[in-house]
Amino acid sequence: MNGSWTPAAHGRVFPVTNPATGAVITEVADMTVEDAGAAIDGAIAAQAQWRERSGKERAAVLRAWHAKLKEHREAIAALITEEQGKPLSEARGEVEFGASFVEWFAEEAKRLYGDLIPGPTGDRRFVVVKQPIGVCAAITPWNFPLAMITRKVAAALAAGCSMVVKPSEETPLTALMAAQLATEAGVPDGLINVVTTLDAPGVGELFCRHEKVRKISFTGSTRVGKLLLERSAPGLKKVSLELGGNAPFIIFEDADLERAIEGVVAAKYRNSGQTCVCANRIFVHEAVHDAFVEGLSQRIVELRLGNGADETVTQGPLINERAVEKAEALVEDALARGAQLECGGGRWHPEAAWFEPTVLTSVDRSMRIANEEAFAPIAPVFRFRNDDEALEMANDTAYGLMAYLYTSDVSRMWHFGERLEVGMVGINEGVISSELAPFGGIKESGIGREGSKYGIDEYVEIKQLCFGGLRPS
Ligand code: ADP
Repeated sequence: MNGSWTPAAHGRVFPVTNPATGAVITEVADMTVEDAGAAIDGAIAAQAQWRERSGKERAAVLRAWHAKLKEHREAIAALITEEQGKPLSEARGEVEFGASFVEWFAEEAKRLYGDLIPGPTGDRRFVVVKQPIGVCAAITPWNFPLAMITRKVAAALAAGCSMVVKPSEETPLTALMAAQLATEAGVPDGLINVVTTLDAPGVGELFCRHEKVRKISFTGSTRVGKLLLERSAPGLKKVSLELGGNAPFIIFEDADLERAIEGVVAAKYRNSGQTCVCANRIFVHEAVHDAFVEGLSQRIVELRLGNGADETVTQGPLINERAVEKAEALVEDALARGAQLECGGGRWHPEAAWFEPTVLTSVDRSMRIANEEAFAPIAPVFRFRNDDEALEMANDTAYGLMAYLYTSDVSRMWHFGERLEVGMVGINEGVISSELAPFGGIKESGIGREGSKYGIDEYVEIKQLCFGGLRPS
């Protein structure tokens, strides 16, 4: 907070554990609502100075932070694996991904262009400027402990805002390390504040009702996102929400099946199924259904479970015991309603939160897994007969984040690409996230976009300056 390590006012701490071993890594301050208030005060003071710096100056500071993140890549990756559980190779990928937003928004800081609009009469002109929205607050999840923070914070700083971040209580250490590296890189004190706390509802509520916090950016569950939007309504705060998904993954009869299987492995089993864009429902045309299931089941057995710190491991544990219990309940419900288990299906190790990569077939819409985000390595496979049925089933959900389709027919790519009710479509591609392209959902998956040239818009206000009394043209 305010550029220095600060204990909670009441002195309490909470432990952070390694999900692969259950061991306590360390303890962090359990900040109260009052502490969070002090962080906001610091952010107000810092922003007043920062907004006066030019885009070019802000870019230089962000570039220095980017360099620090790259320099400490291995240490950050090891920490991500330790507190979150993902395999080291994925953690390294996350550091690259997380750092890429800092680099991208460093560049964008210089391009916060306005507009010149001809006036309605000869003696007037309109100028449009983009100005920082002010103090922002972010609430972030545990599945990408670095990237979910950098893509908000870097955009905010590039725009001239300051930020108070409340990271997930499961993964506060990566957030603290990123903030420490920002300070070392010369990011002014108070621009990035990390409030670690077990009182997420209390601190979240403060963010929503504090009149100086002008923007809330949240990534997490749809339930909490709706709550934050409701609580921000009285102050009419700008809110961005990146919420849950129920991604359809559609494999047509003309798809390259090998490529589709690799796509499912990436889109379903990466991060052990714990991403909001994970394939949640796999729709396969009946002509290729059996070949697909056989191919996927063979591929799944190659995945290696274990402690992510072991370089040979491809599947880390789930984040905690509750996540395993939910996965077990989803499989049990599906089997009770007639699904068939092709492989996996249960807990892998009694001592930590691993869940076996699982494939279910004969899945239908009555099952919980068809309607809920699993956040676990479970692939439920549905059969379809024709395009209309596939489209209808794919859109039959309240969510609208991500969809995947595999086909070799260009006309079908456009037809589905334009009609799927989601914010992002992967066409013959299982991993689409990049700082270059807009990320976000529609329907109950969220509001707003992160990354790309659109991401900075979440942190600015558009203002018009009307110049009158000019010499008439
Ligand atoms: P997940 O199921 O992925 O953990 P959550 O929405 O519960 O999703 O958590 C995402 C983030 O939201 C975390 O930082 C968590 O601490 C925070 N959070 C949880 N409940 C609330 C709440 N009532 N108000 C504000 N933040 C919350």
